[in-house]
Amino acid sequence: MNASNMTGHTGNEPVHNPGYRPIERVIAPPRAHMVGDGFRVHGFLPATVGMQRMSPFIVMDYNSKWDVPAGTAPRGVGVHPHRGFETVTIAYKGRVAHHDSSGGGGVIGEGDVQWMTAASGVLHKEYHEEEFSKKGGIFQMVQLWVNLPAKDKMSPPKYQAITHAQMAQHALPDNGGSMEVIAGNYHGTQGPATTFTPVHLYNARMNKGGKAELDFPAHFNTALLVIEGSIRVNGSEPVPTDHFVLMGNAPGKFVIEAREQAVVLVLGGEPINEPMVAHGPFVMNTREEIIQAMEDFNQGKFGYLED
Ligand code: MN
Repeated sequence: MNASNMTGHTGNEPVHNPGYRPIERVIAPPRAHMVGDGFRVHGFLPATVGMQRMSPFIVMDYNSKWDVPAGTAPRGVGVHPHRGFETVTIAYKGRVAHHDSSGGGGVIGEGDVQWMTAASGVLHKEYHEEEFSKKGGIFQMVQLWVNLPAKDKMSPPKYQAITHAQMAQHALPDNGGSMEVIAGNYHGTQGPATTFTPVHLYNARMNKGGKAELDFPAHFNTALLVIEGSIRVNGSEPVPTDHFVLMGNAPGKFVIEAREQAVVLVLGGEPINEPMVAHGPFVMNTREEIIQAMEDFNQGKFGYLED
């Protein structure tokens, strides 16, 4: 410990708040890579902290704002399978269309969320929606993969199409904005999504100076992604747009403060403490189950979908 630590903080260093859940790491967006030709993503999870650290959130691909030129053929990613988890697609700007092997399909509009339980297996394709593709414009989205516990990995696939209007809104104090609850519960306000394990997923849509207090159980893996604007967490140095804040697993509440108009994706979830074997689009508990998934896929057991 140096002398300045003993005499208190100078105002330029992170403020230590005893009793508050601490920040573990602030992570700048990793170099973006393309998923198909439609998604230019920063792979925050698992690349930066590993696949178990944020369990049940095992993948987070963040398409930061991207000005997509007008075109004719919708950009996207062609037919591919998933088994063993859920994909959660949150559209902030632009629109995503999807089709699957059960004949289902739909459009995820701005502010909407698609919660797809792949579980035993789906084939699907994901594209920019046709009209958006023709006009072009700003595209911004997050796709999360939420792991399933072993007992639910082979349950039937299902979709929850959650429109922005269906999300529960909890007003923040002092006209600070709104906590939009997608899943879980915020101060008594319950979100519409059903989940297999305890998960809280919110969009904090905050006005300048707005504050949001969060209080998850200490063992819940907890993180923030700054979608718009900039924030402080427990009075920290400013955290800019597109940065990821990994919170420590320690008891205590924490406070987000918006330094300007801000949108923050808040994730909190009870870890699934089971072995995990991931191979491409399959996330299972054992190597044998991965081999089975590949066999089932090769034998057409995931169904058929035209490219
Ligand atoms: Mn997919």
